[in-house]
Amino acid sequence: MIPRQFEYHAPQTVPEAIALLQKYGDTAKLLAGGHSLLPMMKIRFAEPEHLVDLGKVEGLKNIRVDGKELRIGAMTTENELIWSEIVQKQCPLLVEAARLIGDPQVRYKGTLGGDISHGDPGNDHPAIMLALGASFVLAGSDGERVVAADDFFLGLYDTALAPDEVLTEIRIPVMAKGSGWCYAKLKRKTGDFATAAAAVLLTMKRDTVKDVSIALTNAGATALKARAAEDSLRGKKLDDAAISEAARLAMSICDPAADQRGSIEYKIAMSGEMTQRALRTARDRAK
Ligand SMILES: Cc1cc2nc3c(=O)[nH]c(=O)nc-3n(C[C@H](O)[C@H](O)[C@H](O)COP(=O)(O)OP(=O)(O)OC[C@H]3O[C@@H](n4cnc5c(N)ncnc54)[C@H](O)[C@@H]3O)c2cc1C
Repeated sequence: MIPRQFEYHAPQTVPEAIALLQKYGDTAKLLAGGHSLLPMMKIRFAEPEHLVDLGKVEGLKNIRVDGKELRIGAMTTENELIWSEIVQKQCPLLVEAARLIGDPQVRYKGTLGGDISHGDPGNDHPAIMLALGASFVLAGSDGERVVAADDFFLGLYDTALAPDEVLTEIRIPVMAKGSGWCYAKLKRKTGDFATAAAAVLLTMKRDTVKDVSIALTNAGATALKARAAEDSLRGKKLDDAAISEAARLAMSICDPAADQRGSIEYKIAMSGEMTQRALRTARDRAK
């Protein structure tokens, strides 16, 4: 299929991009890696009249540590995340997730900011961001604001981004020393989106759980934070009984849609299974 005709804009700065969004309003869309937007345009699910390409905008690709935060420019690609020594050291959970996204072509073009802004619960980064307690810098005509991942994902393809805002930076607390982590993702084949997936970040005090966060991909209209499951584990020994109770609680909040990846019942069961796998691996990795 061929997208409808559109006008292409290539701003050089964030304020120029914002000005274009303001000028063209609802008829404009930002373009990052294009690996979600262009397929949607081809099937005419999205029909923007103006594409505002962030590809030439300066300053959206930095990866740096600032105090206790890892700060990543929104236009950083999956491949750049995977190969960044800073990200490998400070946030291996993010590297593990990025390596499981799509195929090499998708990882070479797709950006962290685009994956988050798209608001697709089948994308992997929303759950990763919830598990990591990330926040997002949104730049608009009234300046910048910082929104926590917890408050960002509002519904299916719906986020806290205003129509004239650009996600410029992702801020992630540096993982505590000795943390365990895992992103367990079930997919039908290499290159596919998740049938179900769970992200876990864990700190232990001897053999009991000090803190844990659990987030689920493709289990509802947005990525889900499994808070009751987390609460059930804090202060507990992470044995088989505790892990299976946490998985039960995680499954109880799932509300997936049936599709070619499986029935509702299957997807809920697989969310539980991925939660168990992620908890076990995170426990084994924690020091
Ligand atoms: C074959 C295939 C397999 C895939 N598999 C996976 C997978 O396993 N896991 C996964 O997570 N994803 C997967 N994807 C999606 C891929 O990761 C996309 O790259 C990603 O969802 C969007 O990032 P992008 O940079 O391509 O953004 P684009 O497609 O350019 O944009 C997506 C949306 O976000 C908006 N946007 C982009 N950047 C910004 C910004 N900085 N500020 C505000 N709004 C912005 C755009 O306007 C658009 O609405 C797959 C895609 C394909 C084609």
